Amino acid sequence: MKNLLAAIMACTFCLTLQLQAQDFDNIEIVTHHVKDNIYYLEGSGGNIGVIVGDDGVLIVDDQFGPLTNKIEAAITDLTKLPVTFVVNSHFHYDHTDGNENFGRAGAFIVAQDNARRRMESAQVLASGYSQRRYDEVGLPKITFFDAMRFYFNDEPIEIVYNGPGHTDGDAQIFFLESNVVHTGDMFVRYVLPFIDQNNGGSLDGMIEATDRLASKINDETIIIPGHGQLSNRDDLLNYREMLVTIRGNLVRAKVENLSPSEMLDTDPADGFAPTGDGTDAWLLRAYDEYR
Ligand SMILES: [Zn+2]
Repeated sequence: MKNLLAAIMACTFCLTLQLQAQDFDNIEIVTHHVKDNIYYLEGSGGNIGVIVGDDGVLIVDDQFGPLTNKIEAAITDLTKLPVTFVVNSHFHYDHTDGNENFGRAGAFIVAQDNARRRMESAQVLASGYSQRRYDEVGLPKITFFDAMRFYFNDEPIEIVYNGPGHTDGDAQIFFLESNVVHTGDMFVRYVLPFIDQNNGGSLDGMIEATDRLASKINDETIIIPGHGQLSNRDDLLNYREMLVTIRGNLVRAKVENLSPSEMLDTDPADGFAPTGDGTDAWLLRAYDEYR
């Protein structure tokens, strides 16, 4: 188990290597039914939320460009209607690299305004990965600031900006009638959630956004996380607990005036994440927020 966790952590923190090493030919897109006419697609990169119906198709995120044909094929198995809207949960490439393909195919891309601004130019992520700027066709044509609502396929779909957390342009997508939410990377099922401090993200912001999200859902809500398996409110609260505990440990180290390496010696993520370079890098970035 520890090896598995270490492997997952290594992947998470070496997004650049992950992308370079990706052999997209071998990636299979797996369709999971969530509820009613809502599905999510698993491939490589963030989970893709899908709602199908008489109005057409709205998807949340679009993974990597080389996978677009496979993603479209998986959607065609659900409906013959085209993708009308692509909602980006945030600007990161493992959620938006397919934007140009879907934009070219005629979909309207939607995102929080800060996410569009990030995509207008190249960005260096806190992981060190350099994300390229997208061509106009891949940029969101529709943006929002705090919230917006779609009425699509008999489903009120509310897209909410919960404040900066993972980045400064994170959206959560609520399928109100079906009681399903796609959280983007504000909530993920790998060990320590990547926080993009270079682009407005912070541990405090993640915790605040998690609180707001928890207050908006109930025990029956089905959560499609940014990465990983379907979850519920309890899973979200456990995740919040982990972040709060680690933050407490970091703040205590700060109050004791520990140097970064002394902080690492206290093992602030003990019980949550395997020791190793990935965890250390995560803790150092988070610790830097409290200096
Ligand atoms: Zn992300």
